[in-house]
Amino acid sequence: MNNGKVWLVGAGPGDIGLLTKKAIEVIEQADFIAYDALVGEEILCMLPEKVEKVSVGKRSGKHSVPQEETNQILLKEALKGKKVVRLKGGDPFVFGRGGEELELLAEHGVPFEVVPGITSAVAVPAYAGIPVTHRDYTSSFHVITGHPRKDGQDRTDYESLVRMNATLVFLMSIRAMGHVMEKLMQAGMDPDMPAAVLEQGTRYCQRKVVSTVSRLEEDSKKAKIQTPAIIVVGKVCALSEEFSWYEKRELAGRQIVVTRARNKASRLTKELRDAGAEVLEIPMIDTTPISPEQVDLSELLAESEEREVWLTFTSPTGVETFFGTTLAGKKTDLRRILRAGVDLKFAVIGEATAKELERYGWMADLMPEVYNGKELGKALVQTAGKDAVVYLLRAKEGSEELKEELDAGNIQYRDVAIYETLCRENSPLADIITEKIENGQIDRVTFTSASTVRGFVQTMKDMDFTKVPALCIGEQTAREAEKYHMQIEISDQATIAGMVKKLKELCKAQEER
Ligand code: SAH
Repeated sequence: MNNGKVWLVGAGPGDIGLLTKKAIEVIEQADFIAYDALVGEEILCMLPEKVEKVSVGKRSGKHSVPQEETNQILLKEALKGKKVVRLKGGDPFVFGRGGEELELLAEHGVPFEVVPGITSAVAVPAYAGIPVTHRDYTSSFHVITGHPRKDGQDRTDYESLVRMNATLVFLMSIRAMGHVMEKLMQAGMDPDMPAAVLEQGTRYCQRKVVSTVSRLEEDSKKAKIQTPAIIVVGKVCALSEEFSWYEKRELAGRQIVVTRARNKASRLTKELRDAGAEVLEIPMIDTTPISPEQVDLSELLAESEEREVWLTFTSPTGVETFFGTTLAGKKTDLRRILRAGVDLKFAVIGEATAKELERYGWMADLMPEVYNGKELGKALVQTAGKDAVVYLLRAKEGSEELKEELDAGNIQYRDVAIYETLCRENSPLADIITEKIENGQIDRVTFTSASTVRGFVQTMKDMDFTKVPALCIGEQTAREAEKYHMQIEISDQATIAGMVKKLKELCKAQEER
């Protein structure tokens, strides 16, 4: 009758890289997503924008949707015929109450699938340099909750746990830490047995306290460790220093906001994540091609008689749109003007644009040394012949500077808008980001064009922009950011690689201070 179905999906412990391929596929086809408080922020940012989402957050002490209500929500949405994704931290069946959520669905004959996730019980120690098993120290590991049952009783068999000489991983045990350590020692565990508490594991803000069973509670209190955190008890904890790796990467401990259009963000994001940063991808702009019928190329297609014609691109999007949408949509290609005897040349603003042009089979003839509109204009003035004509194939409302240079150099040009850059009116995560920036929790907000600054400002309407630690790709972007008195740094080179390099330098300088 209806095709509703529920996917119970593990989101892993936080790092978006630990989300499984299958989880991503399922999320992408969802109609409705219910997620809990342990799902990482990087992952929240990648949830499809147009899909209905609810937070059924559950975090010790804070308001949350009761379990029964969550079960009912899943049932109700599935019965409407929706593809429902229930996204849970770690693995859905490891202390995740996933079983309870399935019971009601099974009773009502609603179909479901389970997508296992990487559990914090194993991944969080791994990110802290603690292998849960090691041949020399232990042959088994156990995952236990120290959270007392509803009746306040603790039915854990501590004697057996101690006898097994194993690694013990306690989830949901921060508030019960003193009690758990006491019980272990009463059951005969050596008070000097290594023990660790690991907070916010796999995330940029992860912290660890390595100690012993007798001193863990005190040391953890001193460090003000809070939930979510796990406790690991066993000799393997002593390896944590030697095997630590997470903090060693250049951008470890950094949270960075990337504001480009989503399809364009991936390279910057990937490079930052590779260097160890946590990246919140919040697209502030969308680029949309102008429909080919509305782009007037009649002049270009009518050029002839060996005229020098410069096709000029100021962004990879321009190249992609011109060939992939504009020309393709008009069912024509550049042979039409080449046959007419045109002396065809290509000018690009920078490397990435040149690369994109190569993908379509054309080599750039001209690229300025510094990648901005003004320099591109100057280079054209120097290189183009007196009777040449320059076609600017770019965004509507592109930079004036390029035109000013061409005007000053008496070069003929036609400004042809082939795509539009639209600012986002709102972002589902605007509130979270605003709060984080105002509290100084975001290390950098990256801006790769003046339009991303405009998009950011429109989206984050109510925020104090003077608190924004901006990294701008170039001068023109910086000028836009200056209007809002942001704290501005500028990349030395107007490329993605340049941005990444600058970020690393800034972080290093900050550490040295
Ligand atoms: N299903 C989850 C566990 C849910 S119980 C899983 O498989 O990971 C919630 C507990 O998991 C928290 O109280 C904490 O002990 C632990 N936890 C989950 N994510 C964590 C993280 N990123 N860092 C530290 N502990 C985490």
